Amino acid sequence: MYDIAIVGAGPGGSTAGRQLAKMGFNVCLIDRSIFPRDKPCGGGFSPRLLSEFPYVRRRSSDFINSVSHCGVIHSPNGHVVLTGRSDMIMTLRTDFDSTLFRLAIEAGACPTAPFNVVSVRINRDSVAVLSSQGKEITARAVIGADGVSSVVARQTNLNRRWPSRSVTACKVKEVPTTESDIGSRYGQDREYHLFTNVGGLPGYGWVLPKRSTVNVGLGVVASHARRLASLFSLFTRMLKRSSLISENTDLSRARGALVPTSGPIAVSFTRRCLLVGDSAGMVNPLTGGGIAYAMHAGRVAGVILGRALEHDHLEADSLMRYQQAWHREFGSAVRGQLVAQKLFTGPFAGVLFEIGNRDTELQKMAASFMSGSDGEGNKIGSIALRGLRVCLREALWQKI
Ligand SMILES: Cc1cc2nc3c(=O)[nH]c(=O)nc-3n(C[C@H](O)[C@H](O)[C@H](O)COP(=O)(O)OP(=O)(O)OC[C@H]3O[C@@H](n4cnc5c(N)ncnc54)[C@H](O)[C@@H]3O)c2cc1C
Repeated sequence: MYDIAIVGAGPGGSTAGRQLAKMGFNVCLIDRSIFPRDKPCGGGFSPRLLSEFPYVRRRSSDFINSVSHCGVIHSPNGHVVLTGRSDMIMTLRTDFDSTLFRLAIEAGACPTAPFNVVSVRINRDSVAVLSSQGKEITARAVIGADGVSSVVARQTNLNRRWPSRSVTACKVKEVPTTESDIGSRYGQDREYHLFTNVGGLPGYGWVLPKRSTVNVGLGVVASHARRLASLFSLFTRMLKRSSLISENTDLSRARGALVPTSGPIAVSFTRRCLLVGDSAGMVNPLTGGGIAYAMHAGRVAGVILGRALEHDHLEADSLMRYQQAWHREFGSAVRGQLVAQKLFTGPFAGVLFEIGNRDTELQKMAASFMSGSDGEGNKIGSIALRGLRVCLREALWQKI
């Protein structure tokens, strides 16, 4: 019997697997796919992540595809853009995820793939994980890191299913292009573009230039998903018209994927079980960025579960510490992003862009916020205060 079975070897599962293996536990790292595998994704994240995970930074040459230095945020009607300097690391998920996976294996986790989990049973003294092939793995505890359609979340009743308003349905394609096209289109700073509420529907779009590809994607809240295909072609036509992608870019066969965007589920633990990453809804609801939260949650899950295993105390009251710990680490950031999501998908989004457009500092803060680079001092509260100051300043100027 293993100490821990981890279902899903994406950023959340591999990070938890490495942490627990380093602590000396016997870890079974399960995935339905053989690595390296791809995952439909933008593949962008803030450089902060690498300072928070130095062991990943030491492998950065294995996965950093390019670095962009400037973000451009487009208003819903496309009339206002906010431009601010804020770095974003661009990766291909095949490279990034296989680096994290290798790090977990090197630390001692035991890879088990392909193993498509269809059932998870929590018994009195163990957990049984069953595959579609009828194979069974037993462990003292399980971590569900199996993404947005998590079998572990469903089987443990932690999340039976997402309501359609709680997930965003996306279309995404990594389009090959040339380095010179990237240079001429996105400039020396390799500007990345983020769009809010494309076509007036709640959601977001993006254009992320990489070394020799451009990642183009669009997401709408799944309750509007019927219109996703037509909206995606509208979006790509608009990108071509404004020369953000070349006229002959082929965006047919874009891949579909879901991402949870209504904040984390209420309870992410139960007896002998923790959920990390997308399986628990740990995603920035404003932008759909979830790589960083999955890794933070994976590390915290590893530490808390490791202690619980040492004391052989795997009841829910002991594992509740996991929820408290990840709340401390990024709970308030997600709350701020939920507020921002409401504002930027609400009726006053246009006004907010107009205010932002009048102040370069505010634009920089908005770009940092959207790219996830904002440090402790640059949260939604500081942005709101700055916005208020800009409004007051303008009002005073008009009086004089
Ligand atoms: C279109 C799109 C674009 C995105 N762009 C970005 C971005 O630019 N930046 C960012 O930070 N985030 C982005 N995200 C979000 C990001 O992809 C996720 O938040 C992140 O991958 C979560 O990591 P995870 O480890 O929780 O889950 P995942 O990365 O989804 O990994 C889950 C793993 O579990 C395995 N698995 C699933 N079911 C089973 C099963 N039944 N049995 C065995 N194995 C199973 C899968 O094969 C997979 O390897 C995007 C998401 C989408 C959909």
